Amino acid sequence: MASQEANPKLQRLFIALDLPDAIRDGVTAWGEAELIDPALRPVRPESLHLTLVFLGDREADKVEAIGDLVRGLSAPQALMKLEDPVSLPRRRRASLFALPAPSPATTDLHHGLVDRLEVAGLHEAEKRDFWPHVTVARVNSEGGGSRRPAAVTRRPGDLPDGVKVPFYGVRMTLYRSELQPGGSRYVPLAQVELPGAGQQ
Ligand code: ATP
Ligand code: MG
Repeated sequence: MASQEANPKLQRLFIALDLPDAIRDGVTAWGEAELIDPALRPVRPESLHLTLVFLGDREADKVEAIGDLVRGLSAPQALMKLEDPVSLPRRRRASLFALPAPSPATTDLHHGLVDRLEVAGLHEAEKRDFWPHVTVARVNSEGGGSRRPAAVTRRPGDLPDGVKVPFYGVRMTLYRSELQPGGSRYVPLAQVELPGAGQQ
């Protein structure tokens, strides 16, 4: 049977903060009005998240240890706030649009996780700085065999003030990302609720 193959399959893993419903709903409503350029592929509402640590392809037998580590983290409250959309990369054609979420608490959470994962031999820290953000749309390629992103002429406008209020991350989740043509699906594998979840 496929599920009992001798070779463990690699799983694409990442640890993320989930957003409170009110913020998720606000971002979704904004996106329905602003992420309308035909070149854009908006992130599904249920998939909106802030990536804390991208682990990449990992052996399936490491999942349990990573999940235990996530569940065991006595995470402090992570207060954050979303900012108006930016596109990346900055100096070339946009390949994605994201809402920056600058937050010392979230950066601390990132470093806390990375340190513990490194000590446990489960992850090697990336060289680049952590940039907390919520990706809201990706740009389709221009087609014709090119991998260059298509031009986005209707760039998304700013967020309404109601979405730019401070909030706490709801929970921290270890996800498996299943890459699919219509947009990746994220499957939760382990979760820990954060204190003060969703309150402002
Ligand atoms: P797709 O790549 O098919 O557009 P996706 O980006 O949603 O889908 P993944 O590539 O599995 O799915 O990424 C899962 C999460 O990890 C996303 O938040 C993504 O932005 C983030 N991520 C992916 N690659 C990296 C990376 N190299 N460094 C940091 N974060 C990453
Ligand atoms: Mg990706």
